[in-house]
Amino acid sequence: MNILVCIKQVPDTTEIKIDPEKHTLIRDGVPSIVNTFDTYGLEMACRLKEETGGTVTVVTMGLPQAKNALRSCLGAGADEAVLISDRPFGGSDTLATSYIISQAVAFLEREKGSTFDLILCGKQAIDGDTAQVGPELSEHLGRPLITYVSALKYRNGEFEAKRENDDGYDRIGVKAPCVMTVVKTAYEPRYPTLKAKIRAQWADIRTITAETMKDTLDLSRCGLKGSPTKVVRTTTPQRQSECQYIKEASPALNAGKLADILARKKVI
Ligand SMILES: Cc1cc2nc3c(=O)[nH]c(=O)nc-3n(C[C@H](O)[C@H](O)[C@H](O)COP(=O)(O)OP(=O)(O)OC[C@H]3O[C@@H](n4cnc5c(N)ncnc54)[C@H](O)[C@@H]3O)c2cc1C
Repeated sequence: MNILVCIKQVPDTTEIKIDPEKHTLIRDGVPSIVNTFDTYGLEMACRLKEETGGTVTVVTMGLPQAKNALRSCLGAGADEAVLISDRPFGGSDTLATSYIISQAVAFLEREKGSTFDLILCGKQAIDGDTAQVGPELSEHLGRPLITYVSALKYRNGEFEAKRENDDGYDRIGVKAPCVMTVVKTAYEPRYPTLKAKIRAQWADIRTITAETMKDTLDLSRCGLKGSPTKVVRTTTPQRQSECQYIKEASPALNAGKLADILARKKVI
């Protein structure tokens, strides 16, 4: 089975800061990691590959430094890594990003002469947080989509996905080729061995550019030109904290008073 895992390099922080003038994320001085949900997708793909054979390819669209994220995926079980990177892709919103990724998928499939049986994305990126790229990719490729997948089996040409929902989970069957977005799984992603890390460090990472895809790529759908999202204004929420001591005569009275305060503030 041939599986493609879309990964995004994200800042290793929960304290995202926005440049007030450019309205973009401030990435300087912040170390980067592979988006957490994508590492679960990669582990899911590697486990499927170990059961059924085949290959796992990781792909990311980003600046050349995103190769570091791809190398860490090669260390953690991926067989091949592809970077999609070029100037015309800068300024892409989620629609343009997913369009460019879909074009790269189509290019790789034409080259191999076969389709990826399964394309996995994370549920969402922990920086951009829109959760749009996976569903948009399925739309561009015209392939069925299952979101919020936490476990996956493959039997006789059909996947059975466990899909998390607000009340529990659904079990959904789908035939290949398809797209899924992945949530946290019951198992943790594997750690790379030293040997795998060294191999990944020297591995060849291919770059796909606009020129590579020139036969089919519509440049008007890439970058700022191809992005209907307009960032009009960004603000950083102000944090306010207030501290109130409760000093009643007994623990029971303290608890009662605390419950009153929380109820007044509509917390409980
Ligand atoms: C007007 C505008 C301009 C922008 N310009 C830039 C820019 O110049 N440079 C820039 O880096 N960002 C830019 N962005 C942000 C960029 O569009 C998003 O980071 C990107 O589309 C992913 O969205 P997200 O983070 O919400 O991912 P989600 O949709 O939350 O991600 C879900 C999953 O999709 C996959 N995925 C997401 N992004 C990628 C990727 N790049 N490669 C492979 N798989 C991916 C991963 O599996 C991820 O877990 C811009 C956004 C806007 C609105």
